Amino acid sequence: MIKFLRSFLLLDLLEGLWVTFRHQSPSQIETEQYPSERPAVSERYRGAPRLNVHPETQETLCISCNLCAVACPENLIVVGSVRNPETKRKDLVTFTYDLSRCMFCGLCEDACPVDALELTQDFEIASYTREGLIWDRQALEEGPRPTQYRQ
Ligand code: SF4
Ligand code: SF4
Repeated sequence: MIKFLRSFLLLDLLEGLWVTFRHQSPSQIETEQYPSERPAVSERYRGAPRLNVHPETQETLCISCNLCAVACPENLIVVGSVRNPETKRKDLVTFTYDLSRCMFCGLCEDACPVDALELTQDFEIASYTREGLIWDRQALEEGPRPTQYRQ
């Protein structure tokens, strides 16, 4: 009988509406004003990759050891290098990172012995195409170009 009366008098509906109206005060609104206010992401958040360069010389920190590519379970990193006959070291030529397949596990970052590869807190990595998610060395060092978003 009580159940019938509750349904007949729409008590459940009214209770629901009351909960909604109770939270109409602006102080209770949780809407984030993105993009004018950027949300704070967790300290351990792993987002857009970056290939670090030396702050003074602007030379890449990457020593082309290929460890990040080997550590990646998705095989999405391709490191291209040439052996320098003078220094006998490998010089980085190309670096490709396919973000569309990345699961941001951080294994590549952990494998890098010189902290050249870093997953930053930048989460704005959307692209209209899959090709726009394939970042080359320039995009990794300087950030993605606007054309990458428009492709
Ligand atoms: S974060 Fe994980 S999936 Fe993405 S490139 Fe690094 S190792 Fe590969
Ligand atoms: S592990 Fe680090 S140093 Fe080695 S190729 Fe990758 S980014 Fe470069």
